[in-house]
Amino acid sequence: MDEQLTTARAAQIIDDPEARATWPAVRRGLLRRCPNCGEGHLFDGYLKVTDTCAACGEVLKHHRADDGPAYLTILIVGHLLAFVMHFVWVQFRPEPLVFASVLTVFAVGLSLWLLPRFKGGIVGYQWAHRMHGFGDGD
Ligand SMILES: [Zn+2]
Repeated sequence: MDEQLTTARAAQIIDDPEARATWPAVRRGLLRRCPNCGEGHLFDGYLKVTDTCAACGEVLKHHRADDGPAYLTILIVGHLLAFVMHFVWVQFRPEPLVFASVLTVFAVGLSLWLLPRFKGGIVGYQWAHRMHGFGDGD
């Protein structure tokens, strides 16, 4: 089914010269780069999306990632942490204070690392599908 969707999307892109490929844009966003050119920085700070790309001039202010990146971050970190907690507790039985401290640092660090990447991916997806104003004025 994924192959059919990919084929349908590829046909749509071929038929429409204005269509944008989804995965390259998402991949560039995950790397915190402009979804259009992949050269310019997507963020002006930690999570603030820049208004326009410094490299290609693409207007990026139309994104509406909202709570999506936080949702994805909690989903991934929560599931990963549950597995790590179970494995470490069963195998090593660490002191509870050490266990909680290490896992807290791990969870916060991973969340801070993932959050801008997921936001970039969502902005890239919205840009590729011309959502929320990305399709207007081109
Ligand atoms: Zn750009």
